[in-house]
Amino acid sequence: VKATTFRSAAEQVIGKLHQAGFSALLAGGCVRDILLGIEPKDYDVATSAPPQSVVKLFRRTEQVGARFGVVLVRVGRFQVEVATFRTDGDYQDGRHPDSVEFGSEAEDAKRRDFTINGMFCDIRDDRIIDHVGGREDLERRLIRAIGQPDRRFAEDHLRMLRAVRFAARLEFTIEPSTMAAIQQHAGELPSISAERIREELKTILTDRHRSPGWRLLVESRLSDHLIPGILWNENEAESVGHRLDATNAPLDFMTALAALLLPFDPVRADAACRSLACSNQERKGVRWLLEQLPRVHAWRTLELADIKLLSADDRFDQLLELMRIDLIASGSGTELHDDLKACCDAITPDQIAPPPLVTGDDLITRNVPAGPLFARTLDAIYRAQLNGDIASRDDALAMLEELLRD
Ligand code: ATP
Ligand code: MG
Repeated sequence: VKATTFRSAAEQVIGKLHQAGFSALLAGGCVRDILLGIEPKDYDVATSAPPQSVVKLFRRTEQVGARFGVVLVRVGRFQVEVATFRTDGDYQDGRHPDSVEFGSEAEDAKRRDFTINGMFCDIRDDRIIDHVGGREDLERRLIRAIGQPDRRFAEDHLRMLRAVRFAARLEFTIEPSTMAAIQQHAGELPSISAERIREELKTILTDRHRSPGWRLLVESRLSDHLIPGILWNENEAESVGHRLDATNAPLDFMTALAALLLPFDPVRADAACRSLACSNQERKGVRWLLEQLPRVHAWRTLELADIKLLSADDRFDQLLELMRIDLIASGSGTELHDDLKACCDAITPDQIAPPPLVTGDDLITRNVPAGPLFARTLDAIYRAQLNGDIASRDDALAMLEELLRD
């Protein structure tokens, strides 16, 4: 049978495991989402079948975490994660359990992070199996660590950011003793890899609940340990919140990071992106946005050439958006932004970055040596062209002769 939905793919996997005599249940995030009436992103299956049996039962499998008993099963275009019931052994490093042991369904529920993520669903009768009080917390809209919060965050520091992510995205509250444990362990965040921190931060900041997400990062004190050397004081943290609040439109990660790093100078922001292991494009983009922001705020003092050069950049829309949210956050109207946008919209596309009237070849013919003078001359002529001071190649060549005479 062809699976047409992710759910039917998971159902096929579960059906086959049942036929082979194993227990198999929907598990974790998908059960939470089903109960919330949200379409799950993916469906995970938990089973009593050991990994080698899972691999034998299905044609297309991939062992991702053999050690952890996780097998990916491909059904049509879907990939169902099938994990053997297990208990996690001790964590020495705050990142990975040192060992796992296959265990019971109840033990598998208890090794999960939060009560709302710890439920199973038996699809044969849509029965929810809840060993951890997840249903009640779902109704009370609470993010609560399973077991002793203090121990659970000591085991795996990434869970602290996950708590913030789920609370923000679902508009839930972090239960007080869970929040207290996060505050207590926040300082251990830097021991997890920059990539994992960045990915969680990206998920939090690009979601439409980014400003509650930011406020939870601050309240939990995780914000103090997100990026080495970057600390937001109370006022700065509040301004970040206002900026993230300033629009309902989606914000890409680069712009959101710039909104976060706005209190810091562009060089430090660049270093911050480096320590978050951002892509070069993201890092350079954040730096460019922060370097150009003061210029666009003062755009009325710029020449037309500057405005054209700025607006020719493919990050200009992000710069305008950053300017707009910064204006709104600081309580100014958006007039300065709206006027700049109108000014740019009035420039026809062929005028923004027209081909230069004079090129390097013209300078070479005139024996101008390579070096600073060469670049400065070309730049001056191109700026004059963008400013509309010269309009033809003859004008441009005349300007060149004049510059070379001086
Ligand atoms: P999302 O909708 O964002 O995918 P999710 O709850 O499905 O949320 P996943 O990261 O896909 O989250 O993980 C699936 C399940 O695995 C979780 O619901 C949880 O039960 C368990 N889990 C994931 N990460 C951890 C962790 N760090 N510690 C304990 N359990 C975890
Ligand atoms: Mg998931």
